[in-house]
Amino acid sequence: MKRTVGTVHLVGAGPGDPRLLTLRGAELLQRADVVVHDRLVADALLDLAPQGALRVDVGKAPGEAPVSQEEISAMLVEHARRGSDVVRLKGGDPFVFGRGGEEAIACAGAGVPVEVVPGVTSAIAAPGVAGIPLTHRGVASTVAFVTASVATGPADLSRVAVAADTLVVLMAMRRLGDVCAALVAAGRSADEPAALVSAATTFEQHRVVATLGTLADDAEAGGVEPPATLVVGDVVTLAETIVPSAERVPAREADDPALGTLHLV
Ligand code: SAH
Repeated sequence: MKRTVGTVHLVGAGPGDPRLLTLRGAELLQRADVVVHDRLVADALLDLAPQGALRVDVGKAPGEAPVSQEEISAMLVEHARRGSDVVRLKGGDPFVFGRGGEEAIACAGAGVPVEVVPGVTSAIAAPGVAGIPLTHRGVASTVAFVTASVATGPADLSRVAVAADTLVVLMAMRRLGDVCAALVAAGRSADEPAALVSAATTFEQHRVVATLGTLADDAEAGGVEPPATLVVGDVVTLAETIVPSAERVPAREADDPALGTLHLV
């Protein structure tokens, strides 16, 4: 029985494909006492934890009462204080629009040691696998990561809209039309290339390439579902060259065992 205070490891799970977890993340999962995870985290990652490890799902399933941020933080502190090694497994990177900072501050304030294990963020991975480099010589030399909604409601995009060549907007799906319109109102051209990449790095991955003026309608017509990442800027024109539409869907069978199990050496 361990008696010293355990550590809370804030681990980024990556965007979807479990194989995009870091080796450090896998190492920590394999010896975790407690895994506190988001809803969208792949089962293959949870399977890495020892059989006897406690797994706690704190994700919001539609229709279920969400576990509050305060409750999550309190849970992490409590398990660590009991001596458990805790992996807090979060989608993408823990510090990119994931409230990982709040959990880390709560732990630090309670005297619980924290380790941050960065993850592959969907903000970079979703455009990447869709063939959209966020920077490109002669095309884009600056990029801004933006959320469409903040604690108080819709985010004010007017300041950032023209501040970078490439804009990557997360959590934009529910009000995609409004977001695109706000960017145009703030000075971006309605003719500017824009893309939506949904369920990136999973078998449901889907890309819609359009313009800021037409993307919302095209996405609706295409039945695009969250989670999705919006990319705006001239780099979007490279997508078809780098990843032609015909090759976009992973050329593997849906029951490819490689996606269900991780073979770690
Ligand atoms: N911490 C996470 C982001 C949390 S905010 C990260 O670093 O990836 C959640 C938003 O991330 C979603 O609204 C969506 O915009 C984006 N997202 C998450 N998973 C995605 C995926 N597989 N494909 C595309 N976008 C994704």
